[in-house]
Amino acid sequence: MSNFINTVSNEIKKCVPSIEAVYRDLHQHPELSRQEKRTSGVIADHLRQLGFDVTEHVGGYGVVGLMKNGEGATVMLRADMDALPMKEMSGVPYMSHVEVINSQEKVAPVAHTCGHDMHMSCLLGAATVMAQTRELWQGSLLLVFQPDEETGDGSKGMIQDGLIEKFPRPDVIFGQHVMPSRAGTVGWKKGQVLTAGDSWQVTFFGKGGHGGVPQQSIDPVVMAASAVVRLQSIVAREVSPQAHAVITIGEFHAGSAENIIPSQAYIRLNVRTTDEQVRDHVLAAIRRICIAEAQASHAPREPLFEEINSYPLTVNDDAVSEKVARAFIQHFGNNVFETPAQGASEDFSRYGRAWKTPYMYWFVGGSDQDTYDEAVAQGKQGQLPGPHSPFWAPAIQPTLRTGMETMLIAAGLWLDREQ
Ligand SMILES: [Zn+2]
Ligand SMILES: [Zn+2]
Repeated sequence: MSNFINTVSNEIKKCVPSIEAVYRDLHQHPELSRQEKRTSGVIADHLRQLGFDVTEHVGGYGVVGLMKNGEGATVMLRADMDALPMKEMSGVPYMSHVEVINSQEKVAPVAHTCGHDMHMSCLLGAATVMAQTRELWQGSLLLVFQPDEETGDGSKGMIQDGLIEKFPRPDVIFGQHVMPSRAGTVGWKKGQVLTAGDSWQVTFFGKGGHGGVPQQSIDPVVMAASAVVRLQSIVAREVSPQAHAVITIGEFHAGSAENIIPSQAYIRLNVRTTDEQVRDHVLAAIRRICIAEAQASHAPREPLFEEINSYPLTVNDDAVSEKVARAFIQHFGNNVFETPAQGASEDFSRYGRAWKTPYMYWFVGGSDQDTYDEAVAQGKQGQLPGPHSPFWAPAIQPTLRTGMETMLIAAGLWLDREQ
């Protein structure tokens, strides 16, 4: 097996300090989904200096870097770029104090509390090493820096803007996420690794009126309330005990006073599934039940279904995952572990679906090693902050180096001249 990663270890060592500086800079300048202007500029400049062909503004602030280095396979590596609308409380010296005016004209804090700044830095580090060791590999390296992951729209935006047509089809696609496991570790899984996530708003229509004369009204609150209760029967009665599905109705809005029957009510719900067929069935069942409840109430019109966001299922290719995991174990030894499927969702798999290319998505530990070991000793590792916690800021090292090496190992398996 290749020792590509050992051959490039000097180059890794050389570029780590400058990539750490990039990480701190990105961490201190977080930008919300669809607003990643400065971030994309930093990435594009860096890639241009390395000699990549850089295309900016692919689906908003998306940046694509392509390096053609002779005949051979094409490998795509992806990082996401957006931050979250929340206040960081990690206490690290390079903590974000950024505030923006949001769409409701209110001052809102912004922070890289999902860790996408780490993903970008790892990928820039890997890009730097690949650019400086061109004599060691052949083929094409396609880097995709994706905006707007947190809304689930970023990969869709890049694909709709011509990513598939304008760039060479990769033979394999890789992505990664930092997680609250011990820094220096790598978690992997073949097959389904992340859930599908679908969020909808459903509006029920009735006929408003006085609370004292209900016979002249059609009450959308009763309609929506019945639907909320009945929707839970989908998981209980329509999904096999071997399958997994969760329906959460997180919002229910109606009315303005206790004695007025409103004319509308709406709910907002989120569905998580781990299988395409179960997903299709659950979504169809939600539609069926809401329509039937509206009919049962003699509603003047069918409910309105609006998609808030939709994250496809992430299913790692078996053969690719096993090949990459073997190389991870060879390099990282006991720091590689098989993880269970995660409850989170990602829009990463859309690239593989659109290109019909196998893909793999893995996890890189980001919790400070001492903090993690202490938590384990107290049986409290499950309480460590992770993505979307205000206290989450990965330990820069060895997280950054590990996330660079994972990308280099995976790319090397397809591009190393010595293969
Ligand atoms: Zn996130
Ligand atoms: Zn994330």
